[in-house]
Amino acid sequence: MRLRGFVLLFLIVWIVSGLAGEGMWPLSEIRQLDLKKKGLKIDPSRIYNPQGVSLIDAIVKVGGCTGSFVSPNGLILTNHHCAYRAAQSASTPEHDYIRNGFLAASREEEIPAKGYTVRITESYRDVSEEVLSAVTPGMDFAARTRAIQRKIKEIVARAEREHPGKRAEVAEMFIGKTYVLFLYTYLKDVRLVYVPPRSIGEFGGEEDNWMWPRHTGDFSFLRVYVAPDGSPAEYSPQNVPYHPRKYLQVNPQGVDEGDFVFILGYPGRTYRHRTSYFLAFEEEIRLPCVANLYDWQIRVMEKAGQNDREVMLKHLSRIKGRANVMKNYRGKLLGLKRLHLVERKREEEKALQAFIDADPARKAKYGELLAAIGRVYQERRQSAQRNLILDYLPRSSNLFNFALTIYRASNERAKPDLEREPAFMDRNYPRTKERILLALKDYYEPTDRILLKDMLLRASRLPEGQRIQVLDEMIGQEDPEAAIDRLLDAMYARTMLNKERIVYAALEQPVESLKILDDPFINLAKNLYPVYQELKKERERRKGELDPLLAKLVEVKKQFLQKKFVPDANGTLRLTYGHIRGYSPRDAVYYQPISTLRGVVEKTTGEEPFDTPADLLALIEKKDFGRFQLKRLGSVPVGILYDTDTTGGNSGSPILDARGRLIGVNFDRAFEATINDYAWSEEYSRSIGVDIRYVLWVTQKFGGADWLLQEMGVPLK
Ligand code: ASP
Repeated sequence: MRLRGFVLLFLIVWIVSGLAGEGMWPLSEIRQLDLKKKGLKIDPSRIYNPQGVSLIDAIVKVGGCTGSFVSPNGLILTNHHCAYRAAQSASTPEHDYIRNGFLAASREEEIPAKGYTVRITESYRDVSEEVLSAVTPGMDFAARTRAIQRKIKEIVARAEREHPGKRAEVAEMFIGKTYVLFLYTYLKDVRLVYVPPRSIGEFGGEEDNWMWPRHTGDFSFLRVYVAPDGSPAEYSPQNVPYHPRKYLQVNPQGVDEGDFVFILGYPGRTYRHRTSYFLAFEEEIRLPCVANLYDWQIRVMEKAGQNDREVMLKHLSRIKGRANVMKNYRGKLLGLKRLHLVERKREEEKALQAFIDADPARKAKYGELLAAIGRVYQERRQSAQRNLILDYLPRSSNLFNFALTIYRASNERAKPDLEREPAFMDRNYPRTKERILLALKDYYEPTDRILLKDMLLRASRLPEGQRIQVLDEMIGQEDPEAAIDRLLDAMYARTMLNKERIVYAALEQPVESLKILDDPFINLAKNLYPVYQELKKERERRKGELDPLLAKLVEVKKQFLQKKFVPDANGTLRLTYGHIRGYSPRDAVYYQPISTLRGVVEKTTGEEPFDTPADLLALIEKKDFGRFQLKRLGSVPVGILYDTDTTGGNSGSPILDARGRLIGVNFDRAFEATINDYAWSEEYSRSIGVDIRYVLWVTQKFGGADWLLQEMGVPLK
């Protein structure tokens, strides 16, 4: 009996696990997945069809997120947190769209989402051979990196010449090995249509972030506009809604436990093909350092805005971003430990080494591979503390960031376009400037000063061998804290970089004119510039050494494991599939995969972040569920959980049912699933979405925006 039970359990696990699994698949691979067997009920060519129109034509990248067209008139559904920056920068204490939400009653009332673009994928092709032709024998490591980067810029420039109005980007699929050229259309007039209030869109806040069960209405609607002739254009009242080639059909019936789902989106980065050396570096150094730094910075910013909403509004977006990263890193640290990932990787590498050593020819080619990779990471550890400070200095102080960007720009912009760092090339510089000016809007001196002081203090405590001499000379040996205070007093009193007019003008100045400006922050940037240049070279060298090693590693691992690999996520369009499915986060606990309005009520305390609007509670109380309840649960589903393979960047991705209809919007992962970036786990990899029934219910019943449902073709009753 026990044996039979065991066999049955094994069979169930085996069947279910065979149906989902690791894989952020490039669209070119989906034919070999046999999706029909997994549960898909349409022909895969309806998902991806290079010869015609298919579902992927409805998928866009918006901000750092994914979104999808849901109407013929350019209406886009994405997450609340993806529209957050736009809602924040349009907000004032009188018109607080974060707190109260925003609904445009007509097209005229839609407001620009400043700094947002919508990216549509037009086509792609493999350019690996051309990229790698830039490498010649005898090149040193740094030269190799630069040659590849230069070649990529040339390919991009040529593609953009051949396709006026389009943007080209080359994505590295397998490090040092395969490269794909993507052609994109960027639309620039993006507007806010409906953003629910924070108490719905961000319900649960940081407490619930990266957690299941979830009751967050993390959705918003945007609309994208083009010039009357259909071409991409900056905001203008004359612009007209964009008509996409394809928009998604909404399925207001949604799905239930066990149903097949798939996701199309733009996952950002994963590191599954890296080694134990990389993982150990992450676990021991980078993740804990950054998580602790952000933890402290968040507290500083929260305190600054505690009693002043205007000040708080300046910090909200940064707080949210950092809190998100911090918790994600803590989740990863937990996952690394629980799954013993470093140890597991070491075991795998041992087995791989044995395989390599077993054959003389293989040994000659790959024998030293792992040891060589290990040495690169050993070297990286030597300067890790110092480099973290250099990286986080501009991220911590806005003023220093402005100054460094200005100084870099004046140096880079003096070079021919193709030789500049990407941010300063003509095709990217307007965006770079725009970002700086947006950040200036949120500049707040007291916070900036506290964070900068902290970074300088950290620099003053660096161990021997990692010291930053320029800063040492500036701060001196005696009582660094007092010295830093004096220094900052003088710098903040004299700087002009808190003025938009000055920053704007300085972003276009040659180095000589910057000298005349004699701003203390620009002077600091000038002094540190050679240090940053040296850091850049160090990284080029390391990349030039590591990339060909990683390319070889994939090669030999393929021979060893006899299987096809999926390239790591790199911001390009991918498909992942799975089922609506619960999980067990720890001993004796099992989570159901669908949450409902009942949970919204249960969690509500009246205090932020569990302060559900009274009108929403009244609707729940009245059981005014319209057509959106799931009978089995007697309530409206709010969140759904599924075992697809997603990562950062997948936020806002449409969740589609077996027939390719929209049934939810992906926005997060379970805490344990933050480990996805390093490894996919059958037990823990669960993604979280907001159920389409909740989206529609809130939009109709709470927002009163019947017209949006009609625009999506959803019957009101
Ligand atoms: N919250 C993430 C995003 O913003 C999604 C994830 O990391 O799972 O893309």
